[in-house]
Amino acid sequence: MSRNAESTAFRSALEVIRAVEPRVADAIGAELTDQRESLKLIASENYASPATLLAMGNWFSDKYAEGTVGRRFYAGCQNVDTVEALAAEHARELFGAPHAYVQPHSGIDANLVAFWAVLADRVESPALKKAQVRQVNDLTEADWFALRRELGNQRMLGMSLDAGGHLTHGFRPNISGKMFDQRSYGTDPATGLIDYDRVAEAAREFKPLILVGGYSAYPRKVNFRILREIADSVGATFMVDMAHFAGLVAGKVFTGDFDPVPHAHIVTTTTHKSLRGPRGGMVLCQPELADQVDRGCPMVLGGPLPHVMAAKAVALAEARRPDFADYAQRIVDNAQALAEGLLSRGATLVTGGTDNHLVLIDVSGYELTGRQAEQALLDSGIVTNRNSVPQDPNGAWYTSGIRIGTPALTTRGLGAAEMDQTAELIHTVLTQTTAGANADGTPSKAKYNLDAGLADKVARHATDLLATYPLYPGIDLT
Ligand code: PLP
Repeated sequence: MSRNAESTAFRSALEVIRAVEPRVADAIGAELTDQRESLKLIASENYASPATLLAMGNWFSDKYAEGTVGRRFYAGCQNVDTVEALAAEHARELFGAPHAYVQPHSGIDANLVAFWAVLADRVESPALKKAQVRQVNDLTEADWFALRRELGNQRMLGMSLDAGGHLTHGFRPNISGKMFDQRSYGTDPATGLIDYDRVAEAAREFKPLILVGGYSAYPRKVNFRILREIADSVGATFMVDMAHFAGLVAGKVFTGDFDPVPHAHIVTTTTHKSLRGPRGGMVLCQPELADQVDRGCPMVLGGPLPHVMAAKAVALAEARRPDFADYAQRIVDNAQALAEGLLSRGATLVTGGTDNHLVLIDVSGYELTGRQAEQALLDSGIVTNRNSVPQDPNGAWYTSGIRIGTPALTTRGLGAAEMDQTAELIHTVLTQTTAGANADGTPSKAKYNLDAGLADKVARHATDLLATYPLYPGIDLT
């Protein structure tokens, strides 16, 4: 699309919205300005293409389409079939997956679909077979009661939260922790790396139904071949949540043992992080789980979002282009340059570096909590998020870490030199910030002191750094 066409499309859309509720149009415009002006280092965010964004804003949003392609509970779904089939085809081709289900509305939803597909396959189907009935409605009350107890009495082994796992991998505040009896595997305290022997030991002792691989805040590659061997050795289904690093798999930066798709029985992902698509989720699986996965709606999902599936099809088509592989490699090169820049200035990084898109700074070396560091950086125009580090003494709220990631800045075009300057800005803020005190003089985990002049100076540097790499250069709303 020409730059002129992009500007016209977004300007016209805002004009139409403004005629109904100008405050929404203003907020949309303001969001573009904010995103343009901030140094976005949130590891889970990105900037979707104008084509992806535009594919979401249309009448596909009005259509109900429960069911799957060619098998709908509603009439008139032929166009939804077209976009859902296209998105699934692009996903299968891109990841080399036998089956793709593109309906999940988010990563959490994709994980729920996967959990229930496995439970249906491994617990419900055998129970139906044993009772010699075709479906759950045909079970006696007693058999139904027994099945429900059995479904609620299964085990999951996943990565611990403070080692970088995700809340949806069986932790109590999330529904997954209420559904499953969960145990975690952590990382080696000395290296910060996954200790596969310890994972194998935990699997042998706990005998989970599902072994989960994948993470939100682990800065290294994971060997999925070894995890699959561990799962096989205890009869577990191996599931990988690649929400964070799907872009690196798509871009063939993670191949062989580090590509989860050939090794896992089932793979879930978000589409909006390093994959750079619309907000949403997706499930890839081996043929034996396909039917159960396709029952995601209405099993755990509401009606599919055809407008988002259209945008998934566009984004996945983009990810199949050769330049996406360059993009994915640059994400990792940038993360490594950022890590180098921080290390050379004396920062402590969990695992001492990175081989993916994210870097985890242990800010206790600066005598700050994650929360203090996050706020001080935000004051200085640098958007990050606080995150636990392994064995974090400050817990999940205050934390001792800052997670930074490069997918978004790489989309803007920033490279190694700018990563070094970014490292300098981060280091400057963190060395100049001091922990604050509560009113009674006790140390605070939230309050901090940072000279406002210094914060402004860093923010100006950040803006200068971004000026050379305009965000959405084709879009002019003025
Ligand atoms: N899985 C992982 C590994 C994640 O990091 C996240 C989000 O951060 C999710 C799942 C949930 O994704 P969503 O916010 O789209 O539900």
